[in-house]
Amino acid sequence: MKAEQVLFSQGFGTRHECVGIIANGRFKENGELVTDPYEEIDTDNLTFEVDGKPWRFFEKAIILLNKPQHYECSLKPLHHPSVLSLLPPPLRVRGVQPIGRLDEDTTGLLILTDDGKLNHRLTHPKKKVPKVYRVTAKHPITEKMIQQLLAGVKLDDSDEIVKAHECSLISEKVLDLTIFQGKYHQVKRMLAAVSNRVEALERIKFGKLDLPKDLPLGEWTWVDAPSEIY
Ligand code: URA
Repeated sequence: MKAEQVLFSQGFGTRHECVGIIANGRFKENGELVTDPYEEIDTDNLTFEVDGKPWRFFEKAIILLNKPQHYECSLKPLHHPSVLSLLPPPLRVRGVQPIGRLDEDTTGLLILTDDGKLNHRLTHPKKKVPKVYRVTAKHPITEKMIQQLLAGVKLDDSDEIVKAHECSLISEKVLDLTIFQGKYHQVKRMLAAVSNRVEALERIKFGKLDLPKDLPLGEWTWVDAPSEIY
């Protein structure tokens, strides 16, 4: 792929702007300065720099963000900034979008991608992608509550029964709860259905992917391939 096409495909601007970035000596391929915008670049395992900042080449971007509170997953946020504002411009230009949603006050693992098929695959209810939430509850979590969550509870505004796939009690008021679906406020409503209340909610796992312990809130990292997720 030509150097200017590499930058264009990775969201660095118009073709004209990408030619300019390279001709102005701002682009390095695997550490080597490239000033000819039309030089052929091998995109296999390519790492490159623009203005000294390192990038990796991906045909489709998959991003893992440690979402902080007070950011909305909506692309048209109403009360808080969008999670997209935490990402650098090239990723926004590429059109990455969150896979599913976390509430404004939920923290933790959010995946974003510009791969529409992957997004569909991971949000389709039939595919049963497990999500693990670390719930901090207002009241102690009793064995009875856990049994109810595993047996299935009715959410306030519907006749549908939703079940926890797994519950693992971490401490008196902290529970790791695994669900397959992603209904609106699902975990909060499940806890309410067993007469408890969510005080804090963090997603710690999505499919096979764990929230990396060393990734600070608000920071992101690349996911190399969909096979890391499912
Ligand atoms: N369940 C909730 O209640 N909120 C979230 O953000 C995710 C799951």
